Amino acid sequence: MTAQTLSPAEGALLGSAYALACRECGAEYPLDASYACLECFGPLEVAYRPASVTREHIEAGPASMWRYDALLPVEPGASSRPGLQPGFTRLVKADNLARELGARAVWVKDDSGNPTHSFKDRVVAVALENGRRLGFRTIACASTGNLANAVAAAGSRAGLDSVVFVPSNLEAGKIVTTAVYGGTLVAIEGNYDDVNRLCSEIAANREWGFVNVNLRPYYAEGSKTMGFEIAEQLGWRLPDAYVSPVASGSLLTKVDKAFREFIRLGLVEDRAYQVFGAQATGCSPVSQAFAEGKDIIRPVRPDTIAKSLAIGNPADGPYALDAVRRTGGAIADVSDEEIVEGIKLLARTEGIFAETAGGVVVATYRKLLAEGGIDPEAEVVLLNTGDGLKTLDAVAPTSVPTFTISPAYADFESAYSGENA
Ligand SMILES: *Cc1c(COP(=O)(O)O)cnc(C)c1O
Ligand SMILES: [Zn+2]
Repeated sequence: MTAQTLSPAEGALLGSAYALACRECGAEYPLDASYACLECFGPLEVAYRPASVTREHIEAGPASMWRYDALLPVEPGASSRPGLQPGFTRLVKADNLARELGARAVWVKDDSGNPTHSFKDRVVAVALENGRRLGFRTIACASTGNLANAVAAAGSRAGLDSVVFVPSNLEAGKIVTTAVYGGTLVAIEGNYDDVNRLCSEIAANREWGFVNVNLRPYYAEGSKTMGFEIAEQLGWRLPDAYVSPVASGSLLTKVDKAFREFIRLGLVEDRAYQVFGAQATGCSPVSQAFAEGKDIIRPVRPDTIAKSLAIGNPADGPYALDAVRRTGGAIADVSDEEIVEGIKLLARTEGIFAETAGGVVVATYRKLLAEGGIDPEAEVVLLNTGDGLKTLDAVAPTSVPTFTISPAYADFESAYSGENA
């Protein structure tokens, strides 16, 4: 099979996107539901013609990720179709956290504020737009938890059937927050990598839009909007560095892609920045490859409380390594104890309750600072990708009432002064 050349008209409906292109050999394919190159099996990515977008155009757009629709593979008008309208979450200047860590300037990009409380609403929104365009009536996914929430909710809102597959050992907070939307929820006795393998098989046999399988090239582009927002919310400039959690590695690479697109469009000044990745030690295949200076990622069997990051065989791991090495960043990993400390540190200093993935990011940043892997003078954005209410078990044992007393004033006085003596 030879690479196909597409006429400009074929891409006209999808903003400036005109094809799916192989990341390895560059072969181009139409914008349909496919994800692997027929020539070399490399992953496909959405390719764009040069766009021209101004700051004013973006600023006049909706207060959601659709303000960047010209830079996404979606038909115009996404913001007026039934969807969850995710994005444009807050960027919090974290001065207390910075002070505590001895760093100059830190921000938290807080994606727990999305409709289903994680950044996955962004990727699902773009996948669903394309699922609709391609005529799928059922949407599906293989999920480590948050994606299941996002697909089930967005499916309901869009009037589509949803079938989501998760590992059966998932946190209760992620099972309930998926099942409540009423779609089909399939719990698999296995880990995420088993779930993912099964889903590839099902995808080949059903006319379903699997957001992270056959719609993956579109899905992945949704993560760029987190990067676009960071740049816009910093006042149309790039930070010195960002720290991203790494599961499949997609988010980390797409924030980098977003920064480069903004530079190319002249929306921000061209400057160097560093990309940092964060993993849990119990599932750290990309961090291990980085430490060993290798390009090949050896799959692992995950064992960590950070279940949303528990992908032992990360599809975009090699590209995450490329981004980190190209920018002079690093990938590091932290223990489950450090993850819990990270969650509590962010909560105590900034009033932000992150899920385990956010704990991984905060703890990794702290570790990199301590080890000299990141400059304390650098302006750093930490990506908080999910909400702590979904992973309560991680902190429940150590987050308890300060004291329990009878409803008597004297009891309060003695307990409180004892506590604060
Ligand atoms: C899915 C997920 C990630 C990372 O996803 P990638 O596969 O690396 O893009 C990070 N944080 C949370 C909370 C997630 O659910
Ligand atoms: Zn190829």
